[in-house]
Amino acid sequence: MRFDVITLFPDMVRAVLGESIIGRGIAAGYLDIRYHHIRDYSKDKHKNVDDTPYGGGVGMLLTCQPIADAVEAAKSDIPQGNKVRTIYLSPKGRLFTHKVAEELSAYDNLIFICGHYEGIDERIIDEYVDEEISVGDYVLTGGELPACIVADAVARLVPGVLDSAECWQGESIASGILEYPQYTHPRVFHGREVPPVLLSGDHAKVDRFRLEAAVAVTRERRPDLLALHPEYEEMLKPKEKKKKKSKE
Ligand code: SAM
Repeated sequence: MRFDVITLFPDMVRAVLGESIIGRGIAAGYLDIRYHHIRDYSKDKHKNVDDTPYGGGVGMLLTCQPIADAVEAAKSDIPQGNKVRTIYLSPKGRLFTHKVAEELSAYDNLIFICGHYEGIDERIIDEYVDEEISVGDYVLTGGELPACIVADAVARLVPGVLDSAECWQGESIASGILEYPQYTHPRVFHGREVPPVLLSGDHAKVDRFRLEAAVAVTRERRPDLLALHPEYEEMLKPKEKKKKKSKE
């Protein structure tokens, strides 16, 4: 999967996406991330990329020409037939969730436009953007952190980036509910013991403990999720024994 990031601060995004699991996914060839510095595309003699908004108001807007040329450049070598989606990171967009990440992971190419200052000229959105995505109900200074969040969440769904799909399918939200608490060595830390059932070697009991813990934490923190997934509470209910047919 390929990401093209259109930004005034490519180093900021590169620093985040070049590390750890995503960095290894790039090195292994599962991911390809390209950066387009908006200023490099400016045809202005001073390489300006922003201007005052028509009608007045505070702040500056990113102008059309450099972003339009950057999007065209990003698209220019995408093979025909690829599924491509151009996303503008924006607080006005669709709220980003795991479901949206799953949808986006079905594309071959994602092009991220990172706004700055007061944002970008609306005509870029009208002409080039397939979708605006928000990472939450707050305003950040630029689209770089939101692009990193969306790219990271999508990248870990790309086959090969994690060891297996099981790595993400059982996790909080992706499973439908929140994950159970986990523990590693040592067995006792500051007087706090690992729940003994996890040391029992009894896999059925461990599974039951984890299911109960996952349901409990979800009930406490996200009852809305549990309401959408009643199957988890159903699994905890004692199963009715099948009645033997009486011979007459
Ligand atoms: N004037 C804009 C508004 O009121 O909708 C906010 C502009 S914000 C200061 C600058 C840039 O940061 C935006 O163009 C966008 O790319 C990015 N941004 C800020 N908050 C965001 C959010 N919650 N989700 C996604 N992108 C965001």
